[in-house]
Amino acid sequence: MVQLSGITPSGHVHLGNHLGALRRFASDSEPDDLFFVSDLHAMTTAHNPAKLRALATEQLAVMVATGVDPERVFVQSDIAKELGALTWILECTCSYGEAARMIQFKEKAKGQAGVRLSLLTYPVLMAADILLQGASDVPVGEDQSQHVELARTLARRFNSTYGDVFTVPRAVLPPTGARVKDLAEPTRKMSKSAHDAAGVVFVLDEPDQVRRKIRRARTDGGSVPAYAPESRPGISNLLDLLAACTGRDPNELADEYPSYGVLKDAVADAVIEELRPVRERTMALLADTAELERVRKAGAIRAAERGDHRLSSALRLIGAG
Ligand code: ATP
Ligand code: MG
Repeated sequence: MVQLSGITPSGHVHLGNHLGALRRFASDSEPDDLFFVSDLHAMTTAHNPAKLRALATEQLAVMVATGVDPERVFVQSDIAKELGALTWILECTCSYGEAARMIQFKEKAKGQAGVRLSLLTYPVLMAADILLQGASDVPVGEDQSQHVELARTLARRFNSTYGDVFTVPRAVLPPTGARVKDLAEPTRKMSKSAHDAAGVVFVLDEPDQVRRKIRRARTDGGSVPAYAPESRPGISNLLDLLAACTGRDPNELADEYPSYGVLKDAVADAVIEELRPVRERTMALLADTAELERVRKAGAIRAAERGDHRLSSALRLIGAG
């Protein structure tokens, strides 16, 4: 089994990404699992090149700093040549109607002027990400499962039309973890692409900033803290955070904190301690550009080599090269 997970550098890495994805990538992964920074996927709408480069570097550094095996990570654009070639082959295997049916495309393109063609075709690039590496399992949320389904269809169709080259992948549900909510708007999840950063704790925020954001977190009415995610999402989010950082039960924690102020201080302390080693290691890696470059180059070579035989076979079978 080869499991492949990507994170798009669409903004700075936040506490939700850390607790819901990266921390798990570091602790629960199998030896063959692969993790990549999907920077090419951040170009389907208007983007700033310098910012994207910096965010991709930050994302890679945070991944490694969190403890994800450096032998298992790579940056997508470092294998752009291989992915570009395979994307073309897969575009020649995919119908226009199949791409245009993607719900995300329909939703994101709606009402927009100058929609990039890549917004339509990026699920095919995603299929190339998956098929090039021979991934069998792709943990994705509901919003991406249709894209994995497309990768599955394309793998099957290519194999039966031209010859057996690709592992047929399947979408797997990631283990359910706490969905971290935006601190300022606790009915929404914490997001890289949030319009307002006031309620988003970034992994690289200074401890003082983290404390300030948590102190200002919106807590719904009620005189004492109680765990009730539906009716009191704000305070429940804080209890979930404390639970995720301490390995405790949020209901029990609610009983231990009689006041909002004391609870917020405890959450701030726990989050700061949870993020401290990641932040410190990330800063060290970002300062040591040679080490980060070494990890990145080695990752790119491994990712390209891993896919090389599939790409050459596919080219040959499709009548090219
Ligand atoms: P974007 O706003 O661009 O979609 P995002 O913050 O939702 O960014 P993704 O790149 O979509 O981040 O997701 C990366 C990983 O982080 C995924 O595994 C996703 O499930 C996880 N993740 C994202 N946001 C949260 C959150 N608030 N709580 C828990 N896990 C999260
Ligand atoms: Mg998202």
